[in-house]
Amino acid sequence: MLSFPELQAIASKYGHNVIQVIPGDEHCQANGTEEYVNHSYIAFPDIYLGIYDDEELKQASFFHELGHALIADDFAASVDYYTPTIEREIWRIGFELAKNEHGLEFSQKVHEWVEKQIQTYVEGWKREHKFVEESKCTSSSVVEYLLPKQGVPSSNLGWCSKSKGV
Ligand SMILES: [Zn+2]
Repeated sequence: MLSFPELQAIASKYGHNVIQVIPGDEHCQANGTEEYVNHSYIAFPDIYLGIYDDEELKQASFFHELGHALIADDFAASVDYYTPTIEREIWRIGFELAKNEHGLEFSQKVHEWVEKQIQTYVEGWKREHKFVEESKCTSSSVVEYLLPKQGVPSSNLGWCSKSKGV
């Protein structure tokens, strides 16, 4: 594991600052402590490192936030802005950086945790897009299907949307 000054040095190499959020600090007062429990954020140029019991999850999150800054600008468009695929790519970029440049490899536990995070993005995305079965779409809407590249396993999942051209 890396020390906090080491994380700061890595972040500054990419033009970022790291702010360690502490329970009850100004960030917690402004946004609620729970927003920072096992969660980190990036707001360029600051990385807000959340509150974690587990140091490995914290460091994995740090590299994920760096990945947000490093992902190619056109990646999101290339996957039709499908958040779970974008987030998965960001985890991959962050972990690659950790391994290649800092010799840090994360445990199976971290990888399983990341899969759970991605699953929550899938659920959130479905909610946001009112993901439904085709039969539930009304006549005024059409069902659109995800492309296979977007990584959704079931081929019969889609969402209702207004007809194109309306
Ligand atoms: Zn993310």
